[in-house]
Amino acid sequence: AAKGAGRNRYARYSPKMAEAANERLAVEQGLLQAIANGELSLHFQPLVTLDGQTMVGAEALLRWQSATLGVISPDRFIPVAEESGLIQALGRWVLHKALTTWAQWQRDGLVQGRLAINVSALQLQDDQFAEDLARELKATGMDPRELEIEVTETALQRVTHIEHRLSRIAELGVKIALDDFGTGYSSLSILKILPLHRLKVDRAFVRDVVGNASDQAIVRAIAAMADALGLELIAEGVESQGQQEYLLRIGVKEAQGWLFAKAMSAPDFMGWLASH
Ligand code: C2E
Ligand code: MG
Ligand code: MG
Ligand code: MG
Repeated sequence: AAKGAGRNRYARYSPKMAEAANERLAVEQGLLQAIANGELSLHFQPLVTLDGQTMVGAEALLRWQSATLGVISPDRFIPVAEESGLIQALGRWVLHKALTTWAQWQRDGLVQGRLAINVSALQLQDDQFAEDLARELKATGMDPRELEIEVTETALQRVTHIEHRLSRIAELGVKIALDDFGTGYSSLSILKILPLHRLKVDRAFVRDVVGNASDQAIVRAIAAMADALGLELIAEGVESQGQQEYLLRIGVKEAQGWLFAKAMSAPDFMGWLASH
């Protein structure tokens, strides 16, 4: 009977599994061409003071418009890029493009504040990463103090010698933010061991923070801990005035979210800046 059930289960899930494998393959093959074909771009999402009055910087978010597959979300293609080893090339592209763009905008007096870029575990694991970073900073003239790299808790757990690797980055003057904070399974001791500058409260806790007592407790605890440890804090995914008001009340200073602005293409971001 067990064997039968197993076979049934296999028969039932097999088409889906095949579909997933095909999709993965299509994404991987598409990605191989993406850089050369100019299918990648960066969008920019403003980071603001929680009152919405001041932009303090922007996060660069990768976009892929595939000739064959259409627009694909980073949540779908970043994992494939990581599994297939393409993330190194993508990451280098992002680093170069983001720093070049931001440094130019700064020189033109169009933006102020920090540029945040997302870095995957496999990039951090690469011994070349800190050198790539140093070289790009120099080549683009970007002030390292205005660059922040975002790494997830989950990523940190996967990287060996993480303390040493992050220290090399911090020594360049670049800041390090812990992205999606609260959703990984890392020990809180990383907060005191690693050279972190900021925590980004994951939007999973912000979503229901107005009505959900547990989420309120979690967000308040994160805010208190950040404060006690001398870490800056930013809330992700702020979509409503209710969320904004609650977060203001408990002392959160910065936010990112659709209430203020979505991630925008470079020209749209320029338009947004001009109208604010
Ligand atoms: P993330 O770094 O946590 O970025 C925030 C994500 O939340 C972005 O999704 C952003 O568009 C979205 N977001 C911002 N405000 C709101 C809001 O108010 N409501 C909702 N529902 N969503 C909001 P996006 O651009 O689709 O990126 C997804 C993830 O893909 C990122 O999460 C990051 O982990 C990864 N990613 C994006 N670009 C890169 C990159 O250049 N390199 C690497 N390694 N990962 C990247
Ligand atoms: Mg991020
Ligand atoms: Mg995040
Ligand atoms: Mg995320």
